[in-house]
Amino acid sequence: MSRGDPGRARPEQLLDALDPEQRQVAEHLEGPLVVLAGAGTGKTRAMTHRIAYGAATGALDPRHVLALTFTAKAAGEMRSRLRALGAGTVQARTFHSAALRQLRYFWPRFGEGPFPELMAQKAPMVSRAVQAVGIAPERETVRDVAAEIEYAAVSLLGAEEYGERAGGRDLPAGLDAETMVRVIARYGEIKTERRILDFEDVLLVLAGVLGSREEIAAEVHGQYRSFVVDEFQDVSPLQYDLLRRWLGRRDSLCVVGDPAQTIYTFAGASDRFLRRLPVDFPGAREIRLVRNYRSAEPVIGVANAVLARTARSPIRLRGTDRTGPQPAFAEYEDDAAEAEAVAARIASEVSGGRRAGDIAVLFRTNSQSRLFEEALSARGVPYVLRGGERFFARREVKEAIAIMRAASGRGSTERLDEQVRSILSSVGWTPEAPSAQGAVRERWESLTALVNLAQDSQADTTLPVPLSAFIAELDDRAEHQFAPAVDGVTLASVHAAKGLEWESVHLVGASEGLIPIGYAETADEIDEERRLFYVAVTRARTALSLSWSKGRRGASGSGRRASRFVSEVQAGQRAATTRAAAPAARNRTPAPVKCRVCGRLLTARADRNRGRCGTCPAEVDDAVLEAVVHWRAAKAEEARLPVFLVLAMPTVREIAEKRPEGLDELGRVSGIGPLKLEQYGAELLELVRAHRSD
Ligand code: ATP
Ligand code: MG
Repeated sequence: MSRGDPGRARPEQLLDALDPEQRQVAEHLEGPLVVLAGAGTGKTRAMTHRIAYGAATGALDPRHVLALTFTAKAAGEMRSRLRALGAGTVQARTFHSAALRQLRYFWPRFGEGPFPELMAQKAPMVSRAVQAVGIAPERETVRDVAAEIEYAAVSLLGAEEYGERAGGRDLPAGLDAETMVRVIARYGEIKTERRILDFEDVLLVLAGVLGSREEIAAEVHGQYRSFVVDEFQDVSPLQYDLLRRWLGRRDSLCVVGDPAQTIYTFAGASDRFLRRLPVDFPGAREIRLVRNYRSAEPVIGVANAVLARTARSPIRLRGTDRTGPQPAFAEYEDDAAEAEAVAARIASEVSGGRRAGDIAVLFRTNSQSRLFEEALSARGVPYVLRGGERFFARREVKEAIAIMRAASGRGSTERLDEQVRSILSSVGWTPEAPSAQGAVRERWESLTALVNLAQDSQADTTLPVPLSAFIAELDDRAEHQFAPAVDGVTLASVHAAKGLEWESVHLVGASEGLIPIGYAETADEIDEERRLFYVAVTRARTALSLSWSKGRRGASGSGRRASRFVSEVQAGQRAATTRAAAPAARNRTPAPVKCRVCGRLLTARADRNRGRCGTCPAEVDDAVLEAVVHWRAAKAEEARLPVFLVLAMPTVREIAEKRPEGLDELGRVSGIGPLKLEQYGAELLELVRAHRSD
């Protein structure tokens, strides 16, 4: 693609940037498609290239495509990737912002009066609802109750259904199910009384309107004809419901995801929609991407060691043989010592020539960030907080937004960036940086970030962007805690780092109690923590460091231990070292294997595994084949999984061909890994024994 003319990308050039599997994704432009693949395998890349390729060949009309993601940050990145590929007119939004836009547009047709106010924060209303049922609105109680209210909403649980389920949940502040139901009801009443919509209502109301007003649904269907969703493993029932309504009876849908990166089940998301997509959309094509292009081999080794233990994913990452430094593991006396040491390491990376923007410090909880902020500041290393409440909580930012909000009623035909410049100039912003340091400089940087943001928003289109739309974007960002970019070391929670990558990643606080977090108790909760750990390590392109401390500042000896995930990785590495030493010995004395059909001695690995020459015809035992196919369907139904996730058809065939008699032999069938062997081994052997035709 010629750089200066991104609008003219030739279709073949777009495909040239992809490997064969990714190319299949790009070329599948009709009908449902699900891309299931591990971290860093180019899912997002394949998806954006697919849109651009579709647009370039005319198969997709960019005006009718809606690309969906979960965070404003991810949507912003997707927009810039699409722009660079010449498909800048495609709408890339979060579910929330797409829904909000439609809701505002259609409001006059179904709503009464002006558009309702959007709730900026749940806490004040939740606090009232909690008090209404006679409970003290402690900060933690309010926070946990708000999370539970969100859970009920995104899980699409009505009061009754929620009441039934709540008995089995660990409810906040020791509330019983009945009280929790009353709190939720009261919270709903407060919203109605005040004409306020909360974050989830935006999706709920739109879904309701699309379900009840055919003419509105028809208009939306006319506007959006093809949908793509990134990070689909974290879709909530509410989002999925809305997506289905957007689609109507059509099936032009492409979703990409990695079940091993599901990290929002605590908030009601579920990878079951990813896994059962072929059930909901019959005829869906499934494509798996196989190579991780992001990370160097040592990073992939760590990721695989963690992955091996998750209950979710049998996928192992395969890299591109890129070499890199061994991951560093370090234990410190206390949190402050850890922050100091990590900051020192980062300072030396920066002085060694690495851009600060290529480095990230990732942690499990936002409260861990402060010590690292201090330690980096002390060394003069610039940093940005991802999920930075700080940016939108800054006084000057709040004031600037208030002034712009007031001005937005006036209506203007000026370009957005011009408008924002002139409004902010009225409160003292200048295009040049002030010579003063400290608070003055900080204020200037905040305002400049807003001006730059306005410029970016305007750059998306030639029509002037209304100031009100910009304010809505700022509100959306504040809600998502997505601060505008500055070049600096990223400090982010693992949740906020999803989908992103850096040359060097420092995962800090890798101790028991932090990751896995102390309140994770059940096997499912621990597994979600493991997936978080996996998400964290797979953000690294080249360097990865894992550190933890033995206790809080001033409380050394409080006895924190390294995370069990660190121990798993270290154990995995020891095993890999032993295995690396072993194969030579194993290869020297391969047991002779003969072709089952022609009796020739087999030498090629693939032939030996198969037990027959690739050129000899396969003899499939039809009775076994039929039995396994039936068994597979029953299993899939029982587990509510698509059949191919129980066993892929080539695996079924191979079983019917080899008719294994023992677990060893069954384990050599391709597609049967240790997990499947443990889960289905005995049943499969019994099936083969009972049905073999000789
Ligand atoms: P995640 O699961 O973390 O969201 P992903 O599967 O979406 O990851 P991408 O972010 O699309 O992966 O790609 C990871 C990195 O690998 C990016 O830097 C991307 O540009 C690079 N990459 C992907 N595919 C290729 C390819 N075919 N050739 C070269 N680089 C590639
Ligand atoms: Mg991605």
